Amino acid sequence: MALLEVQDLVVEFPQRRGGVLRALDGVSFSIDPGEVLGVVGESGAGKSLTGAAIIGLLEPPGRIASGEIRLGGERIDTLRGEALRRLRGRHIGAIFQDPLTSLNPLYTVGRQLTETIRTHLPLDAAAARERAIALLRDTGIPAPEQRVDHYPHQFSGGMRQRVVIALALAAEPRLIVADEPTTALDVSIQAQIIGLLKRVCREHGAAVMLVTHDMGVIAETCDRVAVMYAGRVAEIGPVAEVIHRGAHPYTQGLVASIPALDGERERLAQIDGSMPRLGAIPSGCAFHPRCPRAVDRCRAERPGLMPAGATQAACWLAVEGTS
Ligand code: SF4
Ligand code: MG
Repeated sequence: MALLEVQDLVVEFPQRRGGVLRALDGVSFSIDPGEVLGVVGESGAGKSLTGAAIIGLLEPPGRIASGEIRLGGERIDTLRGEALRRLRGRHIGAIFQDPLTSLNPLYTVGRQLTETIRTHLPLDAAAARERAIALLRDTGIPAPEQRVDHYPHQFSGGMRQRVVIALALAAEPRLIVADEPTTALDVSIQAQIIGLLKRVCREHGAAVMLVTHDMGVIAETCDRVAVMYAGRVAEIGPVAEVIHRGAHPYTQGLVASIPALDGERERLAQIDGSMPRLGAIPSGCAFHPRCPRAVDRCRAERPGLMPAGATQAACWLAVEGTS
């Protein structure tokens, strides 16, 4: 059974003057236990919003208008208050772009780790401290026995994000939602942190939903990838299939933007234009104004995800077998 199932998720923002803006429009995907799923797309595609909906942190007035989210078969999109907080600490860990949003500057990292551990696991203070030190060691913090008593500002940016990863794993969650976890870090350590995230999550048995705009990161890290465009999933499948045999023209354009992923492959032209604004999503296939292969049907009818070789693509070319 899938660990996480997102089914036909619709997220809307009611407007003050009436009406709603639909920011996610029928998003469906699943994540298996222990799997790393990448969610990629340009800014405004709905990647972060999808992550926020899963962890119950949609910013008001945004709300789930329809659809379902299940973790281990149980509905989680309907949880509120204490039940939601328990889900978030215990079963789903979150990692955001800026480590400082996850850490309290006034408390030592050890205190923050042990509080999370003791809230969710039946450990006494000494055992929780042992676990905190072990987590810091697992995430590559040198001298964890001393570092556990340091404050967040005493760590470098990269080391702080390691602490955040340790904190996200503190209660042994089944899923980690990581939203651009390295974007705020120095380029030289980004790959290191992504590699670490993948390794420790595997060791701790946690699945990962990795949100990023960087197809290169996806290529190196993920098992499967969902490509998002204008609040919808444009294509989803195993990473190698999506990258080398992606059926959706948008996927092909994104892949072409990865520098030197594959030296022998011919570089495709970059995609012209930009993501449509909310409230101005084109009819039919939302990508049609930018698509070099659009036909009449694309403007009139919206394609759903359909089998396209080893991936699923929301593109009429897939069903016609002409891609
Ligand atoms: Fe292009 Fe049409 Fe496919 Fe959309 S459905 S990606 S417009 S070919
Ligand atoms: Mg984002």
